[in-house]
Amino acid sequence: MSLLELEQVESFYGASQALFGVSLDVKEGEVVALMGRNGMGKTTTIRTIFGLVRARSGSIRFLGQEIAGQRAHRIARLGLGLVPEGRRCFPNLTVAENLAVAARAGTWTQGRVFDLFPRLSERRDQYASTLSGGEQQMLAIGRALTTNPRLLVLDEATEGLAPVIRRDIWEALGKLKAAGQSILVVDKTLSELLPVADRCFVLEKGATVFAGPPAGLTPDLQDRYLGV
Ligand code: ATP
Repeated sequence: MSLLELEQVESFYGASQALFGVSLDVKEGEVVALMGRNGMGKTTTIRTIFGLVRARSGSIRFLGQEIAGQRAHRIARLGLGLVPEGRRCFPNLTVAENLAVAARAGTWTQGRVFDLFPRLSERRDQYASTLSGGEQQMLAIGRALTTNPRLLVLDEATEGLAPVIRRDIWEALGKLKAAGQSILVVDKTLSELLPVADRCFVLEKGATVFAGPPAGLTPDLQDRYLGV
């Protein structure tokens, strides 16, 4: 079953068009990657899904229901959990408090987050502002999980993090997948996505130009769309 479906979505910042036809879908239990070079519209796509940028045309369905045009807090309540770019934990709250603020009943409890990220458990009473970048990302993921989302959405899962931390994050995403969690993840590193992502979509100038398994991204397509 499709959890999330975008069809020919277009959106604007003021008069300036940013999305020209984004189509993608995520099925239950899948890990789907959204890729593309800088400025191609990945973050705008995420913001449009969450109602933070308005879709001017096209459709966005979550669990079969049209959500384009709905308010951001309603969309979140339907079961979409966002780990935004830049992490955005509450700096003056502790790790445990950050995990408590958005929590909703479900299988993802604080204890289960601590099992997934033992580093957070050791730092549960530390202020979020004192965490490393990688730990803040783990906290941001943990916080989104405690809302017990049907679909977890990560914008730039590992950008700017040290290789060893990136590995920890991908390992955690692999465990989430094994536990049946559906995930949409924005990332640029194909080699890291390959073992985890079932399918990927590539954006070029605000439009979907590739859809398929990551292994389908031939060196030629990688050259053309990912600029490696
Ligand atoms: P990156 O990997 O650098 O984050 P991206 O693929 O996420 O890139 P977007 O941030 O979605 O790309 O940007 C898509 C287009 O929209 C770009 O041309 C960008 O300049 C433009 N854009 C993004 N945010 C705004 C904004 N707040 N106001 C106006 N234009 C914007």
